[in-house]
Amino acid sequence: MSPTWDLRSDTATTPSPAMLAAMVSAPVGDDVLGEDPTVNELEHMVANLCGHESALFCVSSTMANQLAIRTHLCNPPESMLCHWDSHIFKYESGGTSLHSQAQMIPIKSSPNLSVQDIKDHFIMGNFLGHCAPTHLVALENTMSGVVMPIADIRDIGQFTRSMGALVHMDGSRLWNAAAGKKELREYATLVDSLSLCLSKGMGCPVGALLVGTRQFIDKARHFRKAFGGGWRQAGILAAAGIYAINHIWPTMPATHALAKRLAQGLEQCGYSLALPVHTNMVMIDTAKSPSVSTTELSQALKPKGVILGAVYEGSHLRIVLHHQIDDECVDMILATVNKLHLAASEPAK
Ligand SMILES: *Cc1c(COP(=O)(O)O)cnc(C)c1O
Repeated sequence: MSPTWDLRSDTATTPSPAMLAAMVSAPVGDDVLGEDPTVNELEHMVANLCGHESALFCVSSTMANQLAIRTHLCNPPESMLCHWDSHIFKYESGGTSLHSQAQMIPIKSSPNLSVQDIKDHFIMGNFLGHCAPTHLVALENTMSGVVMPIADIRDIGQFTRSMGALVHMDGSRLWNAAAGKKELREYATLVDSLSLCLSKGMGCPVGALLVGTRQFIDKARHFRKAFGGGWRQAGILAAAGIYAINHIWPTMPATHALAKRLAQGLEQCGYSLALPVHTNMVMIDTAKSPSVSTTELSQALKPKGVILGAVYEGSHLRIVLHHQIDDECVDMILATVNKLHLAASEPAK
């Protein structure tokens, strides 16, 4: 039986009946020929929201990021700076080395990159043929649910461009960073290109967007076809994206408030947070857990239809909320935690 509430990731959403209805009734055409009206509508809508010229509907955020990197970096030897914990560095199957023949330079920094990190690691020239000069900086926002400050993005952008390089933002969860405030454009216009995921908190079954200048997107479209990502009547999928922007994106502030309530309840029972809760993720520091471990908690919740993820890198438990997690689920988790802690603190007879 599938769990009622899956908190392993915001990819765990399933399309709602209203989203499915929007998909079924979408007008479609051949997108490889540029003739799918629903795909075109989604691409225009997202480009406008971001204040950029153009957008490209892609299969996944991984594809959108890899297309961006391949489109920006086309002349080896080149290097790209990114965060050590970034999706682009750790979780895209080494795609940058494979597709773009570029050197990734990962930077350890907490919680996200600063302009000083970029200055410290920037490779200016090829130093008599020894080095791969930095031509791209990849940022991630949100990262582990934490919002990157606009001032940091602005500073990094100014420095990077002054060095003749470009900035790409993996904004898979930028929807969350801009939730309720509609400041997507404020973030997006600070970078040269960005990706946005539709199959995370936006609740779509498939899809992501790559955003940038018309010239950049035209070239990325060529690479998307070469990657095998040209699709035909993709409007049924784009319709889910349009539905999500209009109906699911506005619910994100409520999801974030629920995440805060869960985090506060867990803290009251003695758990420590590894990171502040800015959006939809609660990161529990498992090393500083109280008498009831997160493993015991996960086991106690499973029969109640609540599924928590595995402990990440031996140090933290990531709990991810999305629009299909409700108050009832959070109440259930907190009641279970309280009961376990009472039992654990009872003196042995
Ligand atoms: C999930 C994720 C991706 C990849 O998204 P897919 O659509 O699953 O390929 C990229 N970047 C970040 C930050 C993500 O969280």
